[in-house]
Amino acid sequence: MKLPSLNTQILIGAFIGVLLGLLMGSLAPDSPGREAGMYASNLAGGLFIGLLKMVLVPLLFTSIVVGVANLQAHKQMHRVWVSTLVFFSISMAIAVLLALVATNIFQPGAGMHLDMFAHALQDFHAEKLTVGEFFTHFLLGLFQNPFSSLAQGNVLAVVIFALIVGIAIVVGGERYQNFLKLMQEAFDLIMMIVGWVMRLAPLGIMALLAKLVAAQEVGLLASMAEFMVLVVGITLVHGVIILPGMLYIVTRMSPWRFWQGARDALVTAFATSSSSATLPVTLRCTEQQLHVRREIAGFVVPLGATINMDGTALYEASAALFIANLVGVELNLVQQLIVFFMAMLASVGAPGIPSAGMVTMVMVLQSVGLPAEAIAILLPIDRLLDTIRTAVNVQGDMIGSLIVQEIVTSSEAKPVSG
Ligand code: ASP
Repeated sequence: MKLPSLNTQILIGAFIGVLLGLLMGSLAPDSPGREAGMYASNLAGGLFIGLLKMVLVPLLFTSIVVGVANLQAHKQMHRVWVSTLVFFSISMAIAVLLALVATNIFQPGAGMHLDMFAHALQDFHAEKLTVGEFFTHFLLGLFQNPFSSLAQGNVLAVVIFALIVGIAIVVGGERYQNFLKLMQEAFDLIMMIVGWVMRLAPLGIMALLAKLVAAQEVGLLASMAEFMVLVVGITLVHGVIILPGMLYIVTRMSPWRFWQGARDALVTAFATSSSSATLPVTLRCTEQQLHVRREIAGFVVPLGATINMDGTALYEASAALFIANLVGVELNLVQQLIVFFMAMLASVGAPGIPSAGMVTMVMVLQSVGLPAEAIAILLPIDRLLDTIRTAVNVQGDMIGSLIVQEIVTSSEAKPVSG
């Protein structure tokens, strides 16, 4: 019997996962059926994420080294850098603006009684981090012993080290061509392993979604429904209209064509809630299905997975206003402007792991004097919202690669290029 394509299998897996989750959720908490289901989904989901993490660090390292080193060959390094950072900043700024405008219009949480969440606030103590401390922490985190950051999977430090090695290869020119070739082969080899891991994706995604859906408490979700609907709405507007719109304007690629190529990465991001764990799949889709050149995808995608998070940025801005409403504080324009910048900064600083946005959220709240403990209110719904914001985070990286490729290619087409 011929199996359906991997794409289709992943979608079927996701669908069955949600159904299984609903079924498990409807069973009594200690019933053997639920326990067995939870055990199996923990195991299968954990194995899939483990395999993705296994390839993550070598892939991240080799793809950036090769990406940077090959950029120079095209004399386009500068243009790629600049257009990548400009795209990341613009798309994140639009995301946060959208969140601020929509949350101001719909005012979720206004008139809701905070007493309702009093117990959540009581048992929660957020680690307080001022902006200065956050910055120091962030900057110091950039430069680390490469062996310990590789071993600990400290993604940001690996990215920085790989960028520096890539630049050194360029500066060294002919001298380091063997090393570059080795990196290139290592990258190809890891991508082959990624292909194998992907065969397990339908099962892994099914398990992760079943677990996620089964663990939700319906009563609690209902009390937060207004805010959740708003966040999902803003995230969808950004992911379905704004980002594909930017892509269409620059490259003329239709959203439909984009989603066909990007689907595996988006579903994986949704199920794992981790841009980092999804990176192998994102890179594979960007290169093999969306046909972005290796040197561009290898640079934009891993960098984006660490710093470009539109979904997280818009969530943090919207959540800050929601909390202000709950606490009964009205944020003035200047304070909202602070939220605007802090949400962008906090999303850049958030690692691509589940619920990372929650941690950097503390900084956004504190910057305008809101109680950091209030994130306790958001915690129960965070895993659910994390799914869709991670998918949009990953989508931004793929769209960024396509846009950067278009900008670079069109400048190459001109006789005088830089
Ligand atoms: N889970 C998100 C990601 O990996 C980060 C976040 O918590 O917002 O992209």
